[in-house]
Amino acid sequence: MAKADFQVPQLKQYPEIPAIEPGVMAHSAPFKAKEEFQRQLGFPGTLVDDWQDKAIAKMGDLLGKYRSLRVYLDSCVKCGSCTDKCHYYLGTKDPKNMPVGRQDLMRKVYRRYFTLAGKFFPKLVGAEDFTEEVLNDWYSYFHQCSQCRRCSVFCPYGIDTAEISMAAREIMDHIGVGQKYCNEIIGKVYKIGNNLGLPGPALADTLEGLEEDVLDETGVEVKYPLDVEGADILLITPSADFFAEPHVDGLIGYGKVFHEAGVSWTLSSYASEAANFGMFIGSYANMRRVALRIREAAIKLKVKRIVFGECGHAWRVAYSFLNTLAGPWDFLDPRYPVPQHICEFTYDLMQKGKLRFDKSQNDDMVLTYHDSCNVARASRMGDRPGGQFDIPRAIIRATCNHFYDMDEETIRDRTFCCGGGGGLLTDDLMEIRVKGAQPRVEALNNLMHEKGVTHMAAICAICKSQFTKVLPYYGMEIDQIVSVHQLVSNALVLTGQETEDDDEEAADEAA
Ligand code: SF4
Ligand code: SF4
Repeated sequence: MAKADFQVPQLKQYPEIPAIEPGVMAHSAPFKAKEEFQRQLGFPGTLVDDWQDKAIAKMGDLLGKYRSLRVYLDSCVKCGSCTDKCHYYLGTKDPKNMPVGRQDLMRKVYRRYFTLAGKFFPKLVGAEDFTEEVLNDWYSYFHQCSQCRRCSVFCPYGIDTAEISMAAREIMDHIGVGQKYCNEIIGKVYKIGNNLGLPGPALADTLEGLEEDVLDETGVEVKYPLDVEGADILLITPSADFFAEPHVDGLIGYGKVFHEAGVSWTLSSYASEAANFGMFIGSYANMRRVALRIREAAIKLKVKRIVFGECGHAWRVAYSFLNTLAGPWDFLDPRYPVPQHICEFTYDLMQKGKLRFDKSQNDDMVLTYHDSCNVARASRMGDRPGGQFDIPRAIIRATCNHFYDMDEETIRDRTFCCGGGGGLLTDDLMEIRVKGAQPRVEALNNLMHEKGVTHMAAICAICKSQFTKVLPYYGMEIDQIVSVHQLVSNALVLTGQETEDDDEEAADEAA
């Protein structure tokens, strides 16, 4: 079990709504971005002198641009439906981690400067000046929101706390208070093309290594191409797929699927990142700059289609915003969706009977599936409502003999966040990450006891990284989290692949 210098929540059989402990997470705040990293994103390097005026002005700008933000800040009736729906409240007991509590941090400033009642009778309407103390609270608690949108599912007015968190981070960046993890990573994408700062030659080496591994394992020459001009498909995948476990096993699976489909495909060293942290910091300008790299790569490589690998928020950006950010995509083949998810691609081949699976290859695992929040609540897949839930499950069922879903209150559109999304996947936020993972890990733990589940599959790079880190805090193993396309990779029988059955037949013939 991993050692913690904070109290790890206890896992219970039935979910419990904890009694509040005000201020218990006030100390949690991520490292701030250094001046150079702020500036390369177009933000002031440090806290500007007239920060209150600038912050209020930026808030006014966002209220004008995004009508939803004003509606969210105006329409809460304090009904309480959302109070026990956030994993960070359930795991920490801090009332400022209740969605309504988090929203109120912005709402009180909004009321003070943008409503008549707040200007003249601030105490009566809960309006407050934007003081340094309030700014500190913003920095702390708006970085305890993974922008997972679970609360919005339960709010009768559909108030989306994720949008409020994004706006708060955008305002803070504009006065020179940015978060180190997100802002440094966005800078790396601008310089090198991916979050990890992995240069082209290292990427080429990694892909060559994968080709050798797959050849050794299957006897089939599966290619993992890079920068191939004229390929049909450009694969945009999270850079974690290039080296992290279990992500890389998913990438091996995508390559096998493309091989079996007989399509030509390529990765791009210029756009070697699906993730778009511009969304986490609520910065449309930065989100667009990251997304435009994909467009440039697609044009340069003259591809006809774009397929996204397993990454939750990347799929949200791709599905919901890619056209606005970097479209039009009229130079691509109109017969295919733009973009397409690798799960849609694999599922389509399954429907056409083009993939042969040997499910027994996954018999060492009893599986469940974690719906990643950005896929579940901010996107879709396929041409039917709910495809984002059903398609990954159909792939798992086609590739494994043993699958069980977790408690229905914790899956599909009610899924709990892994605890590390929204720009929180950094070691300086380990306490909130571990505590926020509690509701998901609790549901997993119950299924481990009830059904003997051993592994949980996911289609999000952040979820996979988060679980490998936090499961040991709960006495579980890091390898209990797997990629969906890892299951595909294990079970897929490639044309010409030597299987165990072939070996047995050869042995019989020899006898
Ligand atoms: S968006 Fe998610 S993390 Fe943020 S307040 Fe709502 S439930 Fe909590
Ligand atoms: S559920 Fe919606 S309306 Fe009710 S308290 Fe929460 S944010 Fe306000």
